[in-house]
Amino acid sequence: MNISEEQLLPLSALQHMAFCPRQCALIHIEQAWQENRYTAEGRVLHEKTDTPEVECRPGIRIVRAMMIHSFSLGVSGKCDVVEYHRNPDGTETILPVEYKRGRPKPDERDEVQLCAQAVCLEEMHQTTIARGILYYGTNRRRKEIQLSDDLRRKTRELAESLHTMYRSRQTPAPHYEPKKCDACSLYDLCCPKSLDKSATRHHAAMLRHALEDSA
Ligand code: SF4
Repeated sequence: MNISEEQLLPLSALQHMAFCPRQCALIHIEQAWQENRYTAEGRVLHEKTDTPEVECRPGIRIVRAMMIHSFSLGVSGKCDVVEYHRNPDGTETILPVEYKRGRPKPDERDEVQLCAQAVCLEEMHQTTIARGILYYGTNRRRKEIQLSDDLRRKTRELAESLHTMYRSRQTPAPHYEPKKCDACSLYDLCCPKSLDKSATRHHAAMLRHALEDSA
């Protein structure tokens, strides 16, 4: 992807895209937003890491709320924390750290966001970053994530899909998946049950069968 500074899209949109393209379009194209308990808790956790500052400890420099961008992915945003570790041989290891509320998720949306941050830092520092850290608020644990070729490929593909969708200005139709949709912060704005044609057909068939059984 070869894009200009004006065409950079929010890095945070990648995690929405990984979760559900419709949710991503509702937030980033239609500018719809609805806060629920999960997003409110996430916001509070992020506010703790939102103030730009630098801290120095023996052998490590910690930068908080660092602005980052990547022209290859076409995204810009903020890194919660970037750790610069000084190695015994004089080299430096760069480690992006992303704070998340809750537990590790069943999909790879957090990993994709972390990987995009690492790609931004790689471009900005002209280096290679092998791993990053996801910090989860529930268990207060750091989880090390290897930035594999597969994760990088997924991140690149999602960034391309994000730009394609953004250029089209089209919001994809909903596909109702109970597990995913019932916990979605945009459920009420999305109306997945009433707008998903396959779900509507499914419910109509169930109703028809119930009526036939009771006849
Ligand atoms: S309710 Fe479901 S289909 Fe609608 S935006 Fe959320 S996850 Fe996507």
